Amino acid sequence: MRGDKFLESLNDGRSVWFEGKKIDRIREHPAFQGTLGTIRDLFQTLDDPELRERVGYRVEGSERYAHSSFLVPYTPEHLTRRNRSFSFWSAETHGMMSRLSDYARSLVTGWYAARHELKALDPGFELKIASYYEHARDNDRFLTTAIIDPQIDRSSGLDDRRIAERFLHVVRETEEGIVIRGAKMIATGAPYTHDFILSSFLKFDVKDTKHAHVLIVPANSPGLHIVCRESFADSREQNHPLGAKYDEMDAVLFFDDVLVPWERVLLYGDSQKVLALRANRTANALAYHQNVVRFVAKLEFITGVAFAVAESIGVSGFLHVQEKLGELIVQIDVIKALIIASEAQAKTDVSGVLVPEISFIDSARSIGTKFYPRAVEILQQVGGGGFMQTPSGMEDFYGPISKLMHLYFEGATVSAEKKVQLFKLAWDLIGSPLGSRHELYERFYAGDPVRAYANQYIGYDKDRLIDPIWDLLKQTSKSVGTRG
Ligand SMILES: Cc1cc2nc3c(=O)[nH]c(=O)nc-3n(C[C@H](O)[C@H](O)[C@H](O)COP(=O)(O)OP(=O)(O)OC[C@H]3O[C@@H](n4cnc5c(N)ncnc54)[C@H](O)[C@@H]3O)c2cc1C
Repeated sequence: MRGDKFLESLNDGRSVWFEGKKIDRIREHPAFQGTLGTIRDLFQTLDDPELRERVGYRVEGSERYAHSSFLVPYTPEHLTRRNRSFSFWSAETHGMMSRLSDYARSLVTGWYAARHELKALDPGFELKIASYYEHARDNDRFLTTAIIDPQIDRSSGLDDRRIAERFLHVVRETEEGIVIRGAKMIATGAPYTHDFILSSFLKFDVKDTKHAHVLIVPANSPGLHIVCRESFADSREQNHPLGAKYDEMDAVLFFDDVLVPWERVLLYGDSQKVLALRANRTANALAYHQNVVRFVAKLEFITGVAFAVAESIGVSGFLHVQEKLGELIVQIDVIKALIIASEAQAKTDVSGVLVPEISFIDSARSIGTKFYPRAVEILQQVGGGGFMQTPSGMEDFYGPISKLMHLYFEGATVSAEKKVQLFKLAWDLIGSPLGSRHELYERFYAGDPVRAYANQYIGYDKDRLIDPIWDLLKQTSKSVGTRG
């Protein structure tokens, strides 16, 4: 079963640092056990005859099912299949696991799909991406991205040596490949990923050749250190039903002279080409499509929790509560409608790939950065102090004060025990360290939201909207002139 194979594969000599120690067997570590169990079960769905059609597709010329993030969409049915697969894993994890590698796999699939066009960037690109795509698809490689450079001094650039030395760069070239040094700020899922997709981020100067690259680097590369944040995993499932299963670990990556073989150097030395690859519409549309499909599952989850909380304490009949719960429904509908629009207006690109309309997906990603914090706020407003009116554990329901517990924790429509369970779940979602991390994630996972909105303005066909204004004013001044 490939879930177990996935867990086994993590004993590969990788250097994962947690609380000052290098972890030997990550799958047995309490910070990762719950999350890895979740991922194992999801991987297993591809071997399940009942589920594999939903999650995967049969690779041409083989009996093997691959995850649908590897499916190159040429028809609307292919796009539907991709959506169905993302929806399924997201619903299984309530949208709480956003880096199950289907995003990064989609990026690779997009580059592969557009490889004939992209070979203009580098003649070696086409073969390299094709070979990696097949390797990743046929070996169920778990992938994540590490793009953003460390937050040292954002007002400074590569002309500052402090920055240039710390941002990922090439220190030398050898016959086998390039040797890289520097760090990357956050890679979610890093401790249990197989490969990192690395790319330089800033709009570099043409002269900054050593910092311009797009690379694929295995997590067990010698010299690569994965430095984990504090764990938000909590095995006390009754108190932390989400923390027990869904803490996707974020980690900083240190590259202490890591050799990247030439076959995994997709681009190097030309910042304009790196930017062109990063802007590739096919790859971005396929990858961002996954982001927003996953987001629907999370919005539906938090909305369901808010509805249940409101009913459990008898506040769902108040007008202002209904208005807020209605706002959550509007959020879901807006994102769903943008996804439907992106699929309905998908266009075939020069390689024959059916690409969802990215402007709708960009809008969903941008508005999502405001929706989720607002959804958290609504849940707080609906639940009030109830999130703190919970006992430290469930044990008292079975101890000497059991009768009083049932009496005083009772809800409007639910038993005391159910109400406490519900509020603990809700608190895990919006108030625990994991919950706070999720709010931050939704604000920033797609990049700086301020610049994302600004980029939508910059890239928009503004004349389409401005020209009619001038036309109207021309008409107005003509008629004024006539009257005059
Ligand atoms: C939970 C979580 C998980 C993540 N996972 C990943 C991952 O797996 N892979 C990955 O690559 N990245 C990941 N990220 C990183 C994410 O992509 C960045 O957080 C995001 O791009 C914003 O960059 P930053 O955090 O460096 O913020 P900064 O760019 O440092 O911004 C901080 C503030 O300064 C402002 N600012 C900074 N520079 C400018 C500027 N030039 N012009 C205008 N305003 C500016 C911003 O608007 C913002 O308000 C993750 C982030 C989070 C929070």
